[in-house]
Amino acid sequence: MTTASLPDVHPLLKEFLARKVHKLLIDGKPVDAASGKTFETVNPATGEALGAVAAGDAADVDAAVAAARKALEGPWGKMTPAEREKVLHKVADLLEARAEAFAQLDTLDNGKPIREAKSGDLPLSVALFRYYGGWPTKITGDTTPVSVPYYPGAKFLQYTVREPIGVVGAIIPWNFPLLMAAERLAPILACGNTVVLKPAEQTPLSALWLGELLLEAGVPAGVVNVVPGLGPTAGAAIAKHMGIDKVTFTGSTEVGREIVKASAGNMKRVTMELGGKSPNIIFADADMEAAARGIFAGIFYNQGQTCSAGSRVFIERPAYDKLVAAVADRAGKIKQGNGLDPKIAMGPLVSKEQRDRVLSLVEKGKSEGAKLLAGGAAQPGAGWFIQPTVFGDVKDDMTIAREEIFGPVVCLFPFDSVDEVIDRANSTDYGLVAAVWTKDIKKAHLAANRLKAGVVWINCYQFVDAAAPWGGVKQSGYGREKGPYAIENYTSVKSVWVDLN
Ligand code: ADP
Repeated sequence: MTTASLPDVHPLLKEFLARKVHKLLIDGKPVDAASGKTFETVNPATGEALGAVAAGDAADVDAAVAAARKALEGPWGKMTPAEREKVLHKVADLLEARAEAFAQLDTLDNGKPIREAKSGDLPLSVALFRYYGGWPTKITGDTTPVSVPYYPGAKFLQYTVREPIGVVGAIIPWNFPLLMAAERLAPILACGNTVVLKPAEQTPLSALWLGELLLEAGVPAGVVNVVPGLGPTAGAAIAKHMGIDKVTFTGSTEVGREIVKASAGNMKRVTMELGGKSPNIIFADADMEAAARGIFAGIFYNQGQTCSAGSRVFIERPAYDKLVAAVADRAGKIKQGNGLDPKIAMGPLVSKEQRDRVLSLVEKGKSEGAKLLAGGAAQPGAGWFIQPTVFGDVKDDMTIAREEIFGPVVCLFPFDSVDEVIDRANSTDYGLVAAVWTKDIKKAHLAANRLKAGVVWINCYQFVDAAAPWGGVKQSGYGREKGPYAIENYTSVKSVWVDLN
């Protein structure tokens, strides 16, 4: 653990953090929760309170939905696509100019290393607004040559129009607070919808600040409403709201299932980006240095709190002992501490609950007989730190091999053949991502073809882009975020027939 003196935060952020209560953002205005309740958000590196936040619940969601509905009919609905593009590009420019301050805010609220926030979360968030900023003028329909058997020889013009779905509810998690907000808001707005955004209760601040930036960029009041609050109150109110036309959710499979059930009331559309237990497969002919880096990026990025964590690493037996020793050795050398220090590579977990949950799974790993090769304990002192943890010789039926841990804990397994490893890799309820490391191009593509996952990386890990689709199969969810696919998520197709006879 390093406790170097930390840099001062950006003056704009200092001003933001000095607010007594971070209010909800409804209809373009900061408001208290109808209940008057607040909750505290905590800096997980120190355990100290970072600020009080208005705790939205069903009444506030009602107000936010009413504002969003009104805004659909207001100036937002009347803007031309070119005008919407201009606004989204302005959002990207403002966010880029304030990247340092936003990166520091997510580091303070989530604990992530500032170097990851600055190299990942911020540039990706900006890129999402730039990418989707280009879309409004390119969302087109098509024409279809139609034949009507009961009206022989008749002529029609048939065309389609892609319309906004309406009011979208976005429920997002705490692992990439700003990035998850940007990933939803950019396409939602590009398609002309309005939105009620609920950030996670652990990390509500950057979404609220982004909401204010959007107003400054020219997004009209009521288009983006930000309602922080607890999952079972504010989140559940969004999921079942009769005035919300679509819900986009990223989080645990368990909560995703609740949201799908709740959405049935008004048949709202849903997209789900859920958990994972992703296989990272290293063949003996791989570039071992690159593979070792890939194992690290896969499991230790963001303290392992990624839905795409490469938590099950399968290593072909001839390469197993050497690679396992290298991974364990490097895990012990990771610089852990307060993420604001630019030298830090690993911060704390997001909360005490999360830290305790991960520790209890680590204990399960030990008691079920997995070989602990590095870490395996909490870091002493303040904050919710846990040592980077490596388990070797893990058996497929152990709890740590099956359950999503969502922490810096990796399971290493030896394997002997392609068929065996593909079977074992696929033998999970999840199917978000998978990776294969080999110099044999045929083997790589054949494996990519057989792996049941929404994203497959070959000789790389944790690569994402605003333009490339993201999402899973099986219990990792459905629907795709990013790229042109998200345009389908947030528009509805209308078919128009014109009688030309
Ligand atoms: P994680 O395991 O990453 O904390 P969760 O699925 O618990 O993920 O939380 C993701 C998001 O879902 C958060 O914004 C949380 O508040 C919200 N949430 C939690 N429970 C519910 C619920 N019952 N209904 C709707 N949203 C919920």
